[in-house]
Amino acid sequence: MHSTRTTSGLTMTVATHCPYCALQCGMTLTADERSSVGIEGREFPTNRGSLCQKGWTAAELLDNPERITVPLVRERQGDRSSALVPTSWDAALDAVAARLRETRQAHGPDAVAVFGGGGLTNEKAYALGKFARVALRTSQIDYNGRFCMSSAAAAGNAALGIDRGLPFPLTDLRETGAVLLVGSNLAETMPPAVQHLVAMRERGGLLIVIDPRQTRTAQLADLHLQPVPGTDLALALGLLHILCAGAHLDVDYIEARTTGFAEVRATVQSYWPERVERITGVPSAQLRRAAAWLAAESPVRGGRGVFVLSGRGGEQHASGTDTVHGFINLALALGLPGRPASGFGTLTGQGNGQGGREHGQKADQLPGYRSINDPRAREHVAGVWGVPVDSIPGPGRSAFELLDALGTPAGPRALLLMGSNPVVSAPDANRVTKRLHALDLLVVSDFVLSETAALADVVLPSTQWAEEDGTMTNLEGRVIRRRAVRTPAGAARSDLAILNGLAARLGSGVDFPADAFPTDAETVFAELGRASAGGRADYSRITYGRLDAEDGVFWGDERMFTERFPTPDGRARFHRVEQAATAEDVDDEYPLILTTGRLLAQYQSGAQTRRVAALVEAAASPFVEMHPSIAEACGLLENSTVRVSTRRGSADAVARLTATMRVDTIFMPFHWAGAGRANSLTIAALDPTSRMPEFKACAARIDAVEVAA
Ligand code: SF4
Repeated sequence: MHSTRTTSGLTMTVATHCPYCALQCGMTLTADERSSVGIEGREFPTNRGSLCQKGWTAAELLDNPERITVPLVRERQGDRSSALVPTSWDAALDAVAARLRETRQAHGPDAVAVFGGGGLTNEKAYALGKFARVALRTSQIDYNGRFCMSSAAAAGNAALGIDRGLPFPLTDLRETGAVLLVGSNLAETMPPAVQHLVAMRERGGLLIVIDPRQTRTAQLADLHLQPVPGTDLALALGLLHILCAGAHLDVDYIEARTTGFAEVRATVQSYWPERVERITGVPSAQLRRAAAWLAAESPVRGGRGVFVLSGRGGEQHASGTDTVHGFINLALALGLPGRPASGFGTLTGQGNGQGGREHGQKADQLPGYRSINDPRAREHVAGVWGVPVDSIPGPGRSAFELLDALGTPAGPRALLLMGSNPVVSAPDANRVTKRLHALDLLVVSDFVLSETAALADVVLPSTQWAEEDGTMTNLEGRVIRRRAVRTPAGAARSDLAILNGLAARLGSGVDFPADAFPTDAETVFAELGRASAGGRADYSRITYGRLDAEDGVFWGDERMFTERFPTPDGRARFHRVEQAATAEDVDDEYPLILTTGRLLAQYQSGAQTRRVAALVEAAASPFVEMHPSIAEACGLLENSTVRVSTRRGSADAVARLTATMRVDTIFMPFHWAGAGRANSLTIAALDPTSRMPEFKACAARIDAVEVAA
């Protein structure tokens, strides 16, 4: 048995995983008699013993002075200007349940909304989705993964028949001949993953990176294509144009295993390299070189294999789903998916970004990646839940649309939020913050007073990763165990216990079974397995016993698509797509393209990492990266304070002059709140299929606030 919990005297040691990103690095936690927790990296396929700075320092949050350890309510109910004051669990849960019941009675079930997160364990995500549909009977549930993985998911489902980020183990990258990495800065977002790219290059493999910035990952590349933000799809179409013209396609694979290529071939004819250069700014010679490398390493030419990997850079656009289709088309035309050391994958970001999108916290989804509109899926899940099938609501609003409807006459008036901080992480955050203020009731479960929790009427203190059991599903689709090493701080409770407590107070006892919301994670996981049985993401054969014995278990095949695709006819589908303009073009007033992203030492909205001293020291405050010629035109120097403005708001940050930046593009990390909040600037233009907002491109200008001496 690989992964166990051991005790020695008063010391306990557990094998678990990092609380942050989807790499889910293996780590060993040791808690001494004072519950002080030490961390060591441990051997696990994705990290092979390495951790990044976030992982090493994760235990600092457990006893952080800003940790919330008792429930908080407003001193004067309904007055958010009054202080948040401690109360008992019974008082807090009674108050929340009473107000949710009142809201439901007065305005109907959809007046209560639920918002989840891609960092919640599988058990919590499942229980939250069930809680919304069974205990609240609301259709109004979505989660922050909509802002992260939805375009990749939509394209994967449509083209390949399934959405598993990497349908192969990450370590397969070590064996391949070339990796085309689209819009992912692995070297900062999940540094231990870089060792697999380095191993690939040491064996003679080639790394091609597409990114508007020369990131740390791009600096490792053999070839860096640096397009205008939002033009990645034109690059995919241009690459396929060159491969078609050069007869480098895997014709037998296309014939035997796919449909729809003829329309795609016709479309890419008009994306000749010089035209693509005009659209993207990427020199045609670079595009030709990239195509030649991909062709040479493709299986049909006897190469060692090619992986095409997509990240948020290409996906977080109003046309993100089409962009992912463009790169899947490229992979299919080269015959990659299902071949050794080859394939197409997307790099999931949040800790449980994969499992979090499989078990029912999405507006249109039931557990097991089932559609909430599918009568057979509804029947199956209703049977597991012990409720009438007609009592399960239909689909609700997507994440931004849900947030944007809060407190409006037709929208929800109460919101229960777990594992998310939309005041910082949602697009057009000024607008979202106004909507949160308009609610009659905001209830937030968190372990620190995030910017969103600070607006709440009731704050419920939740456990952290080292205090709870559960499962996560990493970026490869490998289900893994999270294990508690110490008891919760203060009166903090698991979200499972919070949902249990609320359900007991909300329900009449007739509408759903009395034991519908267990607090034990293993019991919830067993039910999740039954609910997911037969679905696209089927966990029914995974048990805690297997997870302990095997140190993680893939749902579905470890390597997918080797024989067929999980589509009705077993074939993958090409999709005809065209490059589209971004939602907002630059003009005289807003002449620059703003793009946003992440840094190594901070994580997502920063609610956790901005409270860890070593991470604050490494990345203390917001900045805006720009080419020196932009700075010169604006009379700025390195470290000048600038105001970045868009049509939605402004944010102040320190100027960083970077000669490798494009002259038309500026970059801001999105981890900070307040005056430096990058999402005050971003645009909520949504992808028509995935409802993904366009975080990666909008029109901006910069003005000097204080020029550095
Ligand atoms: Fe944690 Fe991700 Fe860093 Fe690994 S790479 S230590 S999972 S934050």
